[in-house]
Amino acid sequence: MALEGEFTRIAENEFYSAAYERFISQGKLMGSKCRKCGTIYVPPRPICPKCHTHEMELMAMKGKGKLAAYTVITVGPPMMVEEGFNRESPYCSGVVELEEGARITARILGVDVTKPDQIKIGTPVTVEYQERMHDGEKMTFTAFRALS
Ligand SMILES: [Zn+2]
Repeated sequence: MALEGEFTRIAENEFYSAAYERFISQGKLMGSKCRKCGTIYVPPRPICPKCHTHEMELMAMKGKGKLAAYTVITVGPPMMVEEGFNRESPYCSGVVELEEGARITARILGVDVTKPDQIKIGTPVTVEYQERMHDGEKMTFTAFRALS
């Protein structure tokens, strides 16, 4: 019984993760909302970490929010180095608080990475989908663009 529960949990996680990627490639940002406490998670989670319920429902995010935190990265992971980001050409990674209340980490576009001290917390941002080749496959990534 315990094993069966574990299997279901893993299967659900894979389903959620695959579904999230598929929705992103269609230009939809999905989250899941806990039916008990109302907390929203992006990417969607099959179980609420707060109340441990499986009673989650998928919901589409509007893709609008504000910058809650950011960092300008000069030494990125191999995937970003591959794309040409380095010390001379850094990129901004940030945490966006969506209008729905969920927080998501993504690349932040439309900010001046050469003047990190001028990037403002609270800047309104909107979702943007980027298609990039990765390992010979076309993948869609979520980014957020600062609106000024
Ligand atoms: Zn909950």
